[in-house]
Amino acid sequence: ALFSHDAQRVFDDIDRHFQLSPETLTELTKTFLDEFRLGLGNYGHAMAMIPTFVTGVPDGTETGTFLALDLGGTNLRVCEVVLNGDKTFSLRQQKYKVSETLKTGEATTLFDYLADSVDAFLTENTPSDPTPHHRLGDPRLPPQPVHLGLTFSFPVEQTALGAGKILTWTKGFSAKNAIGHDVVKLLQDAFDRKHMHVKCVALVNDTVGAMLSRAYTAGGCILGAIFGTGTNGAYLEQVANLTKLGNSPAAERGGYMVVNTEWGAFNNSRSHLPSTPFDNTLDRRSINPKFQAFEKFVSGMYLGEITRNILMALIDSAPKSLLFNGKFTAQLNEQWGFDTSVMSDVELAWEGEKGEEPGPEDKIPPFTEFDEEKLSASVKPRLERIKHVIVRKMGYEENDVTLKDAAIVTWACSLVARRAALLSGVAVAAVLVQTGRAALPGSERHANGTSEEEKIGVGVDGSLIEHYPNFERTMRESLRLLVGEDIEKRVEIGMAKDGSGVGAALCALMATKQM
Ligand code: ADP
Repeated sequence: ALFSHDAQRVFDDIDRHFQLSPETLTELTKTFLDEFRLGLGNYGHAMAMIPTFVTGVPDGTETGTFLALDLGGTNLRVCEVVLNGDKTFSLRQQKYKVSETLKTGEATTLFDYLADSVDAFLTENTPSDPTPHHRLGDPRLPPQPVHLGLTFSFPVEQTALGAGKILTWTKGFSAKNAIGHDVVKLLQDAFDRKHMHVKCVALVNDTVGAMLSRAYTAGGCILGAIFGTGTNGAYLEQVANLTKLGNSPAAERGGYMVVNTEWGAFNNSRSHLPSTPFDNTLDRRSINPKFQAFEKFVSGMYLGEITRNILMALIDSAPKSLLFNGKFTAQLNEQWGFDTSVMSDVELAWEGEKGEEPGPEDKIPPFTEFDEEKLSASVKPRLERIKHVIVRKMGYEENDVTLKDAAIVTWACSLVARRAALLSGVAVAAVLVQTGRAALPGSERHANGTSEEEKIGVGVDGSLIEHYPNFERTMRESLRLLVGEDIEKRVEIGMAKDGSGVGAALCALMATKQM
């Protein structure tokens, strides 16, 4: 809790600790690059830099029908993907819940559930009208193995397109007897136990899926990045730089390979990220203290909780509470009780509809001089809307919330989200520098032969980048600081729609060509 003898100082102190100077951002990017290089050289480092055995990117002409299974986010998804070969695809999907019991129980129970879900999908979704690409699982066709790509968004030590050992769980998963096992085998065994005609041929990370699907639909993509429950990125690296492949056949083949960075683990062992007490509280109470340090600053699973920690400290402050007159709700008092999507709602309420975006004059007055009567005609309705969000989403009564409270909540949300977006820019900038497309302030670019006019394709996925107001804009602000406006303008950030499904299908196709 905080001592509030000087309220303005309490707010200023919190604010200051969330700011990132251009120098700090540059230093963080350099450290990111150091960790990239360590991970490319050896196994066992914080940043895993996992070789994916994906040696090229699609160009949109690929065809085929595949099943895809996606585990690693909030839902489990099963889909059937038809690649049409003209940069388009069609997809049918079904989502299934993954309960806490499944996430933290026995691995075989979890994988049996995955197999059951695929079975249910094939049974429930038998189409009445098979397309020329004959639909999967159609009982009128003789049973033949259906090829499936598994999107598994956890760190895996991959040894081939269709094999890889689970290194660790993240994002709230902790199923027993999984670490160290081949995830493809765990799944295939579950299919076989149920005598299903499904063969898992490819293992893909969601970042790789985002990159491949963006390349398929947009033509060209150098980075796939996720800003959702977690954060991570995969990019196309020269095999010559992936020295930990040693003398393996993959190393001898040379060329390029997609590397899954696992950048969520940046800073695990050191302390470059400027942690606040609110971050430390979150970390201490998480199921993986000190791990996934970068992810805890950046991703959807955590931003709400950091903000909740700020709000609770202000509620608790003494001798005078600085928020909601000291009143808390059961919801806000619970760990994880404040979802990142509520931050989004708060900021959307501030932004307003198209045509009423806040201008530079629409500033919230300093909290200690706050006077509801003196609010401008533009600021007042924004704060009224935010008050409604607080009542609707945080369990407060109308009378509990003042416009000043609404202003403080807005400030806390944008403080936490802005820091996350600036740090997301650090990760993207690190990839641009690593691949010779950009240089940091004061350094020379390692030319990589790409033209100066070339668009730099980045495929992204995740609710945070898709829905959080101004997340991409702030990320670009950080990119401009780090790599300059000329490069930033060439970066084309596009959603990798259905990236995990389409990416898994593209990978399954690559795998069947190798079989
Ligand atoms: P996943 O990464 O699990 O596949 P999402 O990309 O939907 O799925 O990310 C879910 C995360 O995004 C959750 O942590 C949730 O709090 C957050 N989230 C959901 N909706 C929004 C929103 N509108 N704005 C910001 N964050 C959101």
